[in-house]
Amino acid sequence: MLKDMCFSSHLWISGRACEAVSGKQFDCLSPRDGKLLVRVAEGDEDDIGVAVKAARAASGSWARQSPKQRRRYLLQLADIIESHQDELALLESLDTGKPITHAKRDDIPLSINCLRFYAEAIDKHYDEIAPTASDVLATIRREPLGVVGAVVPWNFPLMIACWKVAPALAAGNTVVLKPAEQSPLTAIRLAELATAAGLPDGVINVVPGYGETAGAALGRHPDVDAISFTGSGPVGRLFLSYAAESNMKAVFLECGGKSPQIVFDDADDLDKAAQAVAQGICYNQGQVCSAGSRLLVQHSIADEFIDRVLSHVDAWSLGDPLDPATRMGALIESKHLERVQRFIDIGREEGATLISEGKRHSPCEGGFYLPSTIFDHVQKDMTLAQEEIFGPVLAVTRFKDEAEALELANATRFGLAAAVWTSSLSRAHRISRDIKAGTVWVNNYDGSDITVPFGGFGESGNGRDKSLHALDKMSQLKSTWIQF
Ligand code: NAD
Repeated sequence: MLKDMCFSSHLWISGRACEAVSGKQFDCLSPRDGKLLVRVAEGDEDDIGVAVKAARAASGSWARQSPKQRRRYLLQLADIIESHQDELALLESLDTGKPITHAKRDDIPLSINCLRFYAEAIDKHYDEIAPTASDVLATIRREPLGVVGAVVPWNFPLMIACWKVAPALAAGNTVVLKPAEQSPLTAIRLAELATAAGLPDGVINVVPGYGETAGAALGRHPDVDAISFTGSGPVGRLFLSYAAESNMKAVFLECGGKSPQIVFDDADDLDKAAQAVAQGICYNQGQVCSAGSRLLVQHSIADEFIDRVLSHVDAWSLGDPLDPATRMGALIESKHLERVQRFIDIGREEGATLISEGKRHSPCEGGFYLPSTIFDHVQKDMTLAQEEIFGPVLAVTRFKDEAEALELANATRFGLAAAVWTSSLSRAHRISRDIKAGTVWVNNYDGSDITVPFGGFGESGNGRDKSLHALDKMSQLKSTWIQF
């Protein structure tokens, strides 16, 4: 079946597929077996220029559509994606190496849900009248920003693209989307399906290509009004400098994390916590910004709790991403596999205790697979505790009391998420107040809903995706004074 698959591999600009101006293409490999899926058009600065022009041309009429009309378009897009969900799940699994079961259960339905949420929200979103003097009407209106550049990573390609595209379009902006070079296929399909759903030409444009060329050109473009970026901290910083060097465009960053799961000896259900710790580091092969990559566990229960985690981790064995029974697939590319392996070597060299290292094997020959790896006795200043590894590597640190747990949890430059496991209501409130993170989960891990904002403190970023708050960043306020 795979041999007969046909992949969309072009740029999508102004409602049409096109080759890159340079005529160049790059290889799109599947992490599942390292084989070529398709050669994809390689956009660069020239193509970004064409796409931004198309987005600008479409921007006035799209912004003037009534919210009800934009709602209708976005609902049509959600419907058409729903009718292609099996195809999109297969594409996502092949392109990223993630288990098809997770792509089907999570990535695609959550993308559809996101489109529907912003579609349904936008015509219920009222503007304001300020309480000024009685001979003045001061209106506060949300206006679209204009052209939004969306730059996304490879770990949840369609879902994160929808987190950007859906609120941007709903709020009346047009979009140029730059997917990650490792996983461009569902983004291209999203734009194709948007045109099939009737969205006007130029409202959503997709330029696949490399970060250093296409991504940088979008960041520096003088006619892009805002960048909504998800990716690593170092690249996030670059987008801030691109904006400073060009037109001071707004830059919203969703970056990495080093999120702790803090387990106290008074937790009600240690087995549930252990299961969540295993899932928190194994799901999507640990390539999750909010992965629970640090386990902080109280001394009194540490040995018993770690044993429980080890037994739950056993259930996350490596398999062919296309096998519906697989829970752990491949890492995104060989370069990334080497990077994660280097962190494991550093962990050993720095003196952390390796307590679990699954058997390395490749369920599909040529693929980029790595089993989960767990280190105990990780000190707070070790590389394993400080750097975002973005793979299935868990760092365990033991603590004696609440004060030490909090100090360890906050001993990071990141601040994306954290979990606390305790039966003490007061402690749950204290920790969730004092922890520096955009999301705190109490007695659960990875609770999420499109209605709840997601984003980080510190070097985890400055923006929020999801929820009605994402509409705020996709618009600007205009105050109009009308004197009677
Ligand atoms: P990355 O920063 O390498 O790439 C992200 C995007 O930026 C890609 O589209 C890439 O092509 C582009 N890019 C790369 N270099 C560039 C440059 N010099 N100029 C302009 N654009 C450039 O990140 P990644 O490896 O694709 O993704 C992993 C990172 O994403 C992790 O740090 C992870 O935590 C983060 N992430 C964050 C969230 C969140 O919501 N906070 C969600 C998912 C992933």
